[in-house]
Amino acid sequence: NAKRSGKNCFRFFTQDIADSLKERQQIEKGLKLALSEEHFSLVYMPIFDCRDSTIVAVEALLRCHSPDLKGIGPDRFIPVAEATGLIKDIDLWVINNALKALVSLQSEHGFEGKICINISGVELHNELFPAQVKALLETYKVSPEYIELEVTETAFVAGDTTCMATLEALEALGVSLALDDFGTGYTAFSQLINYPADCLKIDRSFVNDLFSEREARKKMVMVIQNLAKLYGLRVIAEGVETQEQLDYLKQSGCDWAQGYYLSKPLIWNDFIKKLHA
Ligand code: C2E
Ligand code: MG
Ligand code: MG
Ligand code: MG
Repeated sequence: NAKRSGKNCFRFFTQDIADSLKERQQIEKGLKLALSEEHFSLVYMPIFDCRDSTIVAVEALLRCHSPDLKGIGPDRFIPVAEATGLIKDIDLWVINNALKALVSLQSEHGFEGKICINISGVELHNELFPAQVKALLETYKVSPEYIELEVTETAFVAGDTTCMATLEALEALGVSLALDDFGTGYTAFSQLINYPADCLKIDRSFVNDLFSEREARKKMVMVIQNLAKLYGLRVIAEGVETQEQLDYLKQSGCDWAQGYYLSKPLIWNDFIKKLHA
């Protein structure tokens, strides 16, 4: 809007900056409080096998209940956490609590699937991170085969040695790695072979547009599926909102799917109910 406001451009522009600075400071304050006062929680989004609709995995998603963060979701507070360095403590909080949840799911609810945990791309440049994950796996005595760490495709930097070393150290722990929001980044397909990834998560935007006028999106979904097959990677489609989308994904060979049509992210008790339904 600043661009279109003519001679008052400067005033509006500085106002915008001031507003967003203020919002960032408020989010930062809220995140600090959340860490010290346990204002975080996880919600659980079931992931389904496309063939038989059983729950094969669950993605843990972060929520923050600080008064300063009312109505603000991870899409907005995670970038602030990354810019302020709070993300490292937050990622550890999430892994800690996701593993705790997994222990309960396995021992009390007969769950045999994976828990999928989002981690910030910042961790790929954090040399301490793999050892921290290892320590948490030992604390909770969970087998790494039940853990999938999701990193957005855009965080992968081909040829970055720290990034590759971290990924390899994580792979050596035995956890799986998923490339989240796949299709939105710039991964040269030829680079995929160098990533120790196990799974591609097709970004929601592609699934959303499957039956829109943007026919090219359909082709893109096919390309990603074929690419995954070629490299032996599992495919998860995210953002499935209609039966039509699910049918298309199923017949085009997608392995797993998640989305509002199948289930919204659920609080713990509701997820347990869903698991036993
Ligand atoms: P993501 O990992 O790609 O997670 C998927 C997001 O899309 C979630 O939003 C989920 O609620 C939403 N979604 C899934 N299916 C549908 C659908 O069918 N329709 C629509 N409209 N939305 C759908 P959420 O929970 O707001 O998370 C947003 C992003 O924030 C995540 O994207 C992830 O990048 C980040 N994030 C979430 N939790 C964590 C966390 O614990 N740690 C870190 N580092 N990042 C997190
Ligand atoms: Mg994710
Ligand atoms: Mg995603
Ligand atoms: Mg995302």
